[in-house]
Amino acid sequence: MAGTLYLVATPIGNLEDITLRALRVLKEVSLIACEDTRHTRVLLEHYGIKTKLTSYHEHNERERAEELATLLKEGQSIALVSDAGTPAISDPGFRLARLAQERGAQVVPIPGATAFVAALVASGLPTDEFFFGGFLPARFTQRRARLTEVRAIASTLVFYEAPHRVAESLQDAREILGEREAVVARELTKVHEEIVRGRLSELAEHFGKETARGEMVVVIDRNVLEEPKEDSTLTVAARVAALENEGMDARAALKRVAREMGLSRSEAYRRLTASRRT
Ligand code: SAM
Repeated sequence: MAGTLYLVATPIGNLEDITLRALRVLKEVSLIACEDTRHTRVLLEHYGIKTKLTSYHEHNERERAEELATLLKEGQSIALVSDAGTPAISDPGFRLARLAQERGAQVVPIPGATAFVAALVASGLPTDEFFFGGFLPARFTQRRARLTEVRAIASTLVFYEAPHRVAESLQDAREILGEREAVVARELTKVHEEIVRGRLSELAEHFGKETARGEMVVVIDRNVLEEPKEDSTLTVAARVAALENEGMDARAALKRVAREMGLSRSEAYRRLTASRRT
């Protein structure tokens, strides 16, 4: 009989944020697959758990998923954890969950901490409908294209963001989504936990003063307080980036955008390069 794959949530900072069931499962399985064995060992040592560890991270995910699925098929029980929070949420995991199901193993979630849920509920922004977008793209054009795509979603928007990019992303969000209320939830469950609330422009200024630190989630209200200014250079760049994301090459994307917007190709190119200079 095939074994069981447990997707086990672990703390996002505070070691107490782990369930009794998660601790029992981590003790009982034959193997724990984790992103960084040194990191997970700290958690296991804290709780006196001696289960064997193996690595499963974004660089070995494909081969390792096959190996782990074979062990599951042979009847072993495996727990998958990530460095923090719930595995497969902006972390490796979905490939293994799918493969395990295909090989006839049971897949059992052991729920617990997830940074975006903690940030959303503490934000004071509406929680009835929300859109979780994972990490915003790191590159300027792609990030603005992504923000343009989500502009029309009438739900609270939630993103993960790296500290060195947060000011830039808040500024882009202000320009593309318009002025909105927002919250940056930083270092949740840790000593320096901080929930900073304000308008997007205020938060961009606050986090732009010096390089921000720590882990953070950005939560943005659905209500627009002030419409974004129409920016034609941005529109060309955002549309080109969206087409490139769909796999079109840069030349073909620019040609298509020029046609869509009724512009000459040289004018479209001028607007594209102007936006990349900003
Ligand atoms: N699997 C995790 C989860 O369930 O939330 C997310 C992993 S993702 C690679 C890491 C990102 O999650 C960080 O860059 C940050 O945006 C967010 N994050 C994780 N822990 C956090 C914390 N304690 N406070 C704020 N954000 C956190």
